[in-house]
Amino acid sequence: MSATEEQSTPQETPKATRQPRRRRRTTPKAPKAPVESAAPVSPRTVAVERPSPEGFLPSARTRFAHPSEQEFAHILDFYGVAWDYEPRSFPLRWDEDRVVEMFTPDFYLKDLGLYVELTTLKQSLVTEKNHKLRLLRELYPDINIKLLYRRDYHRLLAKYGYGPLALGQVRGIERVLLSTQQVQKRVAELGHQISQDYQGQQPVLVGVLRGVLCFMADLMREISLPVSVDFMAISYYGGDNGASVRITKDLDLPIAGKDVLLVEDIVDTGMTLRFILNYLQSRSPASLKVCTLLDKRVRRIAEAPLAYVGFEVPDEFVVGYGLDYLERYRNLPFIGILKPEEAPPSAT
Ligand code: 5GP
Repeated sequence: MSATEEQSTPQETPKATRQPRRRRRTTPKAPKAPVESAAPVSPRTVAVERPSPEGFLPSARTRFAHPSEQEFAHILDFYGVAWDYEPRSFPLRWDEDRVVEMFTPDFYLKDLGLYVELTTLKQSLVTEKNHKLRLLRELYPDINIKLLYRRDYHRLLAKYGYGPLALGQVRGIERVLLSTQQVQKRVAELGHQISQDYQGQQPVLVGVLRGVLCFMADLMREISLPVSVDFMAISYYGGDNGASVRITKDLDLPIAGKDVLLVEDIVDTGMTLRFILNYLQSRSPASLKVCTLLDKRVRRIAEAPLAYVGFEVPDEFVVGYGLDYLERYRNLPFIGILKPEEAPPSAT
């Protein structure tokens, strides 16, 4: 909700320590001090950059002029979208050599290359903002800016691949650990690496259901080799000597003499992996390697060599992108940390 688009001398202080802006004026005020620029000016040469030192200021440390800005910042933080609050002022009107009207968008989302101005539904405000945005687009045609209503926050982020549309689905999530973009980028890198390493071979990708389904579906499409794909399913049951693993669905394809790549969603203690590797090894593959999307290394009990690791993750219970908690959250497009009160007792 940009407040006054009036001229002011640019501040060099980090945004986190800046005072809230004064509220909107309807008529532009003459500048207290001229912008350091010769007249006549080209708009882009006088646009005032105010980069934050980190480029990403968590919402808790920034003073916002309006509660809706804070709400939007929280949503951005949740999805791990880097943002800068009021990073730049754009002169819109000049009186000879003096800038008499400026526009300071509320946010800049650098990963999306997008400025965002928040607005309420109040028609007079919307009309005025639309007018300014039109002017801004005319003067700065390269600038990508959006006027956003509250109801559109999540829709905008969903459009850029952050989060689902249904808010109910993310209610139990504390925060996004790995965004959709981060996951997709890393999966593409892994696929590329695997394609290079298995050059001239036809590996069999073996997945363990069901947490691996998203990862397997994306990874296999990033591998530029002829591959075959098979799945196993296992279940855990309590035995006399603690929990044991049992195969509930065996492989359909023979793997003897084949180059097998076991694709896992997450390796935690490593016990499940060790069991599966032992089983696969007994089927005499030509080679056997492991590719896991997530490695919760700090919890490892049974060591197993991991040839490919997407991300090392902290000791938190994660869901999404195939991973569930009580069969929920598998369809989240990102990987999120479950709220402690929602997570299984062993994970808290
Ligand atoms: P292990 O401890 O044997 O390495 O992991 C066993 C299984 O526990 C994994 O394959 C996965 O299904 C599940 N698991 C471990 N950590 C997590 C987690 O943080 N989130 C979810 N959803 N499942 C996990």
